[in-house]
Amino acid sequence: MTFSSLGLAPCLVRAIDDIAHQVPTPIQRAAIPEILRGKDVLACAQTGSGKTAAFGLPILQQLLSKRSVWRTVHALVLVPTRELAAQVGESMRQYVAYFEQPVKISAVFGGVSINPQMIELRRSADVIVATPGRLLDLVRHNALHLSTIKTLVLDEADRLLALGFADEINEILTLLPAQRQTLMFSATFPMEVHALAEALLNSPVRVDVEATSATAPDIVQRAIAVDVSKRTQLLRHLIQHHGWSRVLVFVATKYSTEHVAQKLRRLGINAAAFHGELSQGARTQALADFKASKLQVLVATDVAARGIDIVQLAAVVNYDLPRSPVDYVHRIGRTGRAGESGVAVSFVSAATEMHFRLIEKRHKMRLVREHIEGYEPADEALPVTKGASEDKHRRKREE
Ligand code: AMP
Repeated sequence: MTFSSLGLAPCLVRAIDDIAHQVPTPIQRAAIPEILRGKDVLACAQTGSGKTAAFGLPILQQLLSKRSVWRTVHALVLVPTRELAAQVGESMRQYVAYFEQPVKISAVFGGVSINPQMIELRRSADVIVATPGRLLDLVRHNALHLSTIKTLVLDEADRLLALGFADEINEILTLLPAQRQTLMFSATFPMEVHALAEALLNSPVRVDVEATSATAPDIVQRAIAVDVSKRTQLLRHLIQHHGWSRVLVFVATKYSTEHVAQKLRRLGINAAAFHGELSQGARTQALADFKASKLQVLVATDVAARGIDIVQLAAVVNYDLPRSPVDYVHRIGRTGRAGESGVAVSFVSAATEMHFRLIEKRHKMRLVREHIEGYEPADEALPVTKGASEDKHRRKREE
C-alpha cells in the first residue's frame, strides 16, 4: 500500500517521500480516504501512530481545490499543549513543501507574547494549529475569524478534556460554522470524550486501528521495586548500565523536576527540568537540547511532556508513578514511536505498589517487580511476583 493509492495528490506524496515515510501506517490507511471523502471521523489513535499525517495530509489536499482570492482560515486543529501545536504546525509545513500556491500554517499557543501572533495572523492563514485558550484570546483581539472554517480537528481529545479545556472548546464551537467536517482523535475514550464526540460529530466513521507489530509501539515495560530514597541512584545505574543516550523521566510535581534534575547533575549526568511554568523560551531550548542530544535526561511533569515527539528516545522512566492509568499510556508512548523500540520503566515502592496494581489492572497486564542488585528495597512488604522465565532471563542478561 502506498500513499498515492490512498488518493493523495502527487505534491503531497512527494513531500511524504522526502520525509521518508514509505508506507502509510494503519491509522493513515483507514482515516485518509474517509477524510478525503468529506466524512466526519472518530479515531482511536495512540501516540506515535502517525495521526498527524492521518489528518494533516487530507486537510491540506482540500486546499488544492480551494479557490479564493483572499486567504481565509480553512482548517482549525485544536491541540492540548504548546509543544504539540508547534510540532503539528511543523509537520504540516513539511507536507506542503511542493504546493504550487504558498500555504500558510500558523501555530498559536500561550506562554509567549500574543503580539507576534497577532501580526502573523494579519493576512490570515490557511490552517491554524492552536491551543484553545490562546485561540480565544486571538479571537477576542479580533486577530482571527473562525467563520470560514471547513474542517475542525480535535487532536488528543482526551487530553484536551483532562486539562480542563471543555469550556474553551464549547466557546470555540459557537464561533464555527455548523456545516463543517469534524475529526476527532483520541488515545482513550472516557465518558467525557464519548459525550463530546456525540455532540460534535455527524454520522462519523469510526476508525479503530488495532495496534499491529508494524506500528505498535514496540515498548518493553518494566517495573522495578525500589525504595523512594534510592530512586536517583538507581536511575543513574540504569542510565549507565544500559547506555541510554536519551531518557525522559517523569515526576509528579514541578518542584520534583528541578530537584531530581539537580541531583542527577550532581551525579555527573546532564539533566534539565521541564515543566509547565518554565518560560516558553526555556521549554523550547530544553527540548531542542534534548533532541540534539546535548541533554541526556529531561525530567518532566505530565503536562509538559504531552505530545513531545522525540525520535530515538531510548527510555521513559516513571520516577513517580502517573496519577491515572490514562497518563501511564501517554507517558510510555513517548518512547517506541513509529516502529522504533523502547523501554518504559516504572519505579514502584511499598507506598505505590497498590497504585501500580490499579494501573496494571486497568491495562490488563501484570509486570514482574524486578529487584536490581544493590538497590533492593528494604521494605520486605513489597511482593515479588514470580515472573515468566523470559523476564528472569532478561534481568540476568541486563544486570
Ligand atoms: P504522530 O503519531 O503523528 O505523532 O507521529 C509519530 C511519529 O511517526 C512521527 O515522528 C512521524 O514522523 C512518524 N510517522 C508518521 N507517519 C509515518 C509513516 N507512514 N511511516 C513512518 N513514520 C511515520
